[in-house]
Amino acid sequence: MINEAFGSRKFKCIRLFGSSPGTSSTPAFQVMKPGFFPSAFCDILAGMTIEKNPDLSIVIPVYNEAANLPGLHEEISAACQGLEKAYEILFVDDGSQDGTLTVCKQLFEKDPQIRIIQLRKNFGQTAALSAGFDHARGEIIITLDADLQNDPNDFGLLIEKIEEGYDLVSGWRVKRKDRFVTRRLPSIMANWLISKMTGVKLHDYGCTLKAFKREIIKHIKLYGELHRFIPAIASNMGVSIAEVKVNHRKRRHGKSKYSVWRFPKVILDLLTVKFLLSYSTRPLQIFGILGMISGIIGGVIGLWLAYVRLIRLEGISGRPLLFLAILLIVLGIQFITLGLLAEIMVRAYHESTEKRIYFIRNIIQADSGEDR
Ligand code: UDP
Ligand code: MG
Repeated sequence: MINEAFGSRKFKCIRLFGSSPGTSSTPAFQVMKPGFFPSAFCDILAGMTIEKNPDLSIVIPVYNEAANLPGLHEEISAACQGLEKAYEILFVDDGSQDGTLTVCKQLFEKDPQIRIIQLRKNFGQTAALSAGFDHARGEIIITLDADLQNDPNDFGLLIEKIEEGYDLVSGWRVKRKDRFVTRRLPSIMANWLISKMTGVKLHDYGCTLKAFKREIIKHIKLYGELHRFIPAIASNMGVSIAEVKVNHRKRRHGKSKYSVWRFPKVILDLLTVKFLLSYSTRPLQIFGILGMISGIIGGVIGLWLAYVRLIRLEGISGRPLLFLAILLIVLGIQFITLGLLAEIMVRAYHESTEKRIYFIRNIIQADSGEDR
């Protein structure tokens, strides 16, 4: 009711006696219009605060990082206070077994800006980030690792770019402090391949230190281990992306949660993303073309064999080409049928989830009437 009375969407809810963690608050009496309410009512309202969403949400996926958290919290708090923005820190505990949750709670006792989201088990970094995005309340959302490898002093650089108008800003760990053969080399290859295939040229897809405008991230649904591909997925929505060079440090406590086996998984994920980006709204175009190529080659071979059998009167029953022709024709039919089925699934998916096939940046119009 108060929201409507003052015409502001930013004021979220009313609470008695002070603010709650993670939100900046404006005392209600500051926004009161004199004479608007009876004075007794004003006195009550004077003790209440209207909560405002924070400017900044720091989202951190945390899996067995107990030893890193106190230092991380200190660094993040110092960096955010330097920015003079209202902020919240979201620790997403991804099923840790090393006492991470206890440390999070101890920090929470001391710092009301902290919010803890405890997942029921270890779902993986992508799921943890996704949970963080779903619960973040800030206008700008920054993600970073919990292991102190990313530097919170870089927040300012990311926010500057967002304020310049970019929708998504990705960190580039220019001097990456990880092993060359097992980490940096596969990463260089993966970044090159992802940039080529998705058309979004970034030097460092793997850097978790990123900043997003809220309106962008809320449209992105993440599955599997696709968090690395957020810029590529977002590019499909027509967002503007910037890259800034950021600091990177050695892991001091705990160990990395990934091995060299991450590389083949990233390549498979890339195939998924490529397919989703290029053909998810028109699958028949990819399956149909494959089907047509296969069917036409099979048909031509079949015609040639018919000519050999009927005109040249030679036997064809033992010829491998006959099997190839049959295989290609059947494959062709299969591909086209698969494409048609996929078309139906795409329609069902978009309609059932009310997912749009377009994203609007802005609407400019004179009146404020609703679309019909
Ligand atoms: N992480 C997570 N769930 C997992 C694996 C990792 O939340 O299943 C978190 C981890 O705690 C860290 C971040 O994701 O904050 C990145 O993990 P890590 O440092 O092991 O990755 P690397 O820097 O080695 O690529
Ligand atoms: Mg790390």
